[in-house]
Amino acid sequence: MQTPSLEFLKALLNSVSVTSQEQPAQRVWLDYVRPLADRVATDAYGNAFAYLNEGGSPKIMVTGHSDEIGFMVQNITDEGFIYFTGVGGVDPALVRGQRMRIQTRAGPVLGVTGSLAPHMQDRGKDPEAPKLHECFLDIGAKDKKEAQKLVRVGDVITYADGFEILRGDIVTARGCDNRIGIFAAAEVLRLLRNEKKLTPCIVAVSTVQEEIGLHGAAMTGYSVHPDVALVADVGQATDIPIVNKNRFGDVKLGKGPIIGRGSANHPVVVDRLETVAAKKKIPIQFSTDPRGTGTDADAIFLQRGGIPSVSIGLPNRYMHSPVEVIHLDDLEKLAQLMAEFCLDVKPGEKFAVKV
Ligand SMILES: [Zn+2]
Repeated sequence: MQTPSLEFLKALLNSVSVTSQEQPAQRVWLDYVRPLADRVATDAYGNAFAYLNEGGSPKIMVTGHSDEIGFMVQNITDEGFIYFTGVGGVDPALVRGQRMRIQTRAGPVLGVTGSLAPHMQDRGKDPEAPKLHECFLDIGAKDKKEAQKLVRVGDVITYADGFEILRGDIVTARGCDNRIGIFAAAEVLRLLRNEKKLTPCIVAVSTVQEEIGLHGAAMTGYSVHPDVALVADVGQATDIPIVNKNRFGDVKLGKGPIIGRGSANHPVVVDRLETVAAKKKIPIQFSTDPRGTGTDADAIFLQRGGIPSVSIGLPNRYMHSPVEVIHLDDLEKLAQLMAEFCLDVKPGEKFAVKV
């Protein structure tokens, strides 16, 4: 991956963008796309847009969601400990014994999640996974008054983990889900910006509030009103020892982006992506979405009488954990596949299922 792109990715993955407080990541994204686009814009809830070749046809929306899962301050005890609630699909089994950062008006405040020392636990009993409401943060405050000076109810919290290289092109970070999606959407602009004869209008979008119900996607699918939407998000990599491939499919890190089939995934666009991938020698994998994609595509395709959409995934291990793992080559291929699709469409082309 070329250096400016990698630096952009790191900045996104090290930013804090818990659902409903996505502004830090949105600012990083807008700074990167501004010189690549003809114009940028934001809307009332902080969805961000970058336009290339406006007036071109068809209008293609390439999109990801900027928000990451996290936590939110719920209660501060008399002793100054902080209880919190989850934002999005968090796993309580991972919460104890971690460093976390609370985002406050005065900047980040470090805390650690307390746990009972093994010495004080009942012997001979299997330890139970904690309930989220039983977990607490220790910020080193001496009492409630001191804690309240720093932290307010509703402040968002993330794991302290950031971007690190695991080995070669395999990297780990919290919230790859889904800052990689907005990275890919931005890279499409970089890949297409010097194309002399760009046919379609490209609208790269970084949505908000996906993790709690695809809300930004519903807003932007309606307002952008594209002819087709390519939705970049993470997909489950199943190449780890504890996953049953017969149940969850066979998706490997480093084997290319994943194209979803079923539900919102428009069959004509799916076929076209497969053709483009074959033509351009971009490796792809498939996954099944029989009841929905679980991504922004589920909200976008319902807008305006039906917007042809496809969810394209980046293989991701340990989703919704502080140590998600992805392959940089897959990420480059994801952006490439979307860009090549944009170059392949014909002026005014419409996508419709033949009945
Ligand atoms: Zn997610």
